[in-house]
Amino acid sequence: MVVGLKTLFAEDGVRHVDYTFTPDEALLAGCSPIHVTGKLQGKSSIVYMTLTAAFTLSLLCDRCMTSYKEAHSVPVEHVLVTSLNREDNDELILVESQEIDLDELVMSDLLLTLPMKHLCREDCKGLCAQCGKNLNEGDCGCKKKPVDPRLEALRKLLD
Ligand SMILES: [Zn+2]
Ligand SMILES: [Zn+2]
Repeated sequence: MVVGLKTLFAEDGVRHVDYTFTPDEALLAGCSPIHVTGKLQGKSSIVYMTLTAAFTLSLLCDRCMTSYKEAHSVPVEHVLVTSLNREDNDELILVESQEIDLDELVMSDLLLTLPMKHLCREDCKGLCAQCGKNLNEGDCGCKKKPVDPRLEALRKLLD
């Protein structure tokens, strides 16, 4: 959604945001529609953005390959200005066109925030390397003896 900021930059006021958009599957696979709420507050020619993006991701656990859902709520907070005249401006977003594409801004913040690693739970036990059973569901009974690399090499030779 593109929001015009002309009024907010010109006069103090608040614009409430409450909308939903569907992210591009290529950017973020398995994502539900993203619900964006919050406000844009204009004050002395500066617009303070305090938004929250809420959504659910359908993921596959890296360890046990089980699909699971993960709810996220990510703050999207920025300070928008029409010109940069301060030296310390890392936090500021320059808006020259008097409008801003919220979808784009929300997506770039989300992609920076989301973890690269996907685990269905912190202590996921993964799959048994021998029988493939999901060890979160219980022990499979396979004997887990530590593999001696020398014996392993010998066994490969004998095979
Ligand atoms: Zn898992
Ligand atoms: Zn097993």
